[in-house]
Amino acid sequence: MRTAVCPGSFDPVTLGHLDIIIRASVIFDRVIVAVSRNPIKNPMFSISERVEMLKEVLKPYRNVTIDSFDGLTVYYAVEQKAVAIVRGLRVLSDFDNEFRTALVNKSLACNVETLFLMTRAEYSYISSSAVKEVAIFGGPLDRLVPPLVVGKFKEKLNGKPISGSCDSREG
Ligand code: ADP
Repeated sequence: MRTAVCPGSFDPVTLGHLDIIIRASVIFDRVIVAVSRNPIKNPMFSISERVEMLKEVLKPYRNVTIDSFDGLTVYYAVEQKAVAIVRGLRVLSDFDNEFRTALVNKSLACNVETLFLMTRAEYSYISSSAVKEVAIFGGPLDRLVPPLVVGKFKEKLNGKPISGSCDSREG
């Protein structure tokens, strides 16, 4: 059985993340979406909220499981007997960091490959941080995150209304 790990912060999960995870689930027998417990700057959603959202939106994908982990991703991958770490690439600036991380990981565990999947054009501009900014300022979220996450933002932001998509706006 070929297992891959899709690691990340997922604060919160976006349509861009989902696309990468689902495509990985076609390539591998089993995909573990691994939410990093390493402290990230001011996470909006707790680890358990992030894990729960991922579990809910990925429920239909039988070979995808959700977990959280501490420490180095590559050691987590070895622990899980994964053959690959799958990462998404959006823009050139992603490449620099990802390239270095992949080389470090290879030096730590030579049996774990890093596999990059190119983002879909329509998701290339989506990041969790951009999504949070849009949410905080009441912008439309329906083309950025799954409906469940739109609801979680509403709860988090004290029920402040989040307006519809650009198509429904006048002008
Ligand atoms: P990290 O902080 O580890 O980068 P993220 O949650 O930001 O965690 O991202 C997790 C993974 O998802 C990374 O491989 C990232 O490149 C990928 N990713 C994030 N957004 C997109 C997107 N819009 N399209 C493709 N891949 C994406």
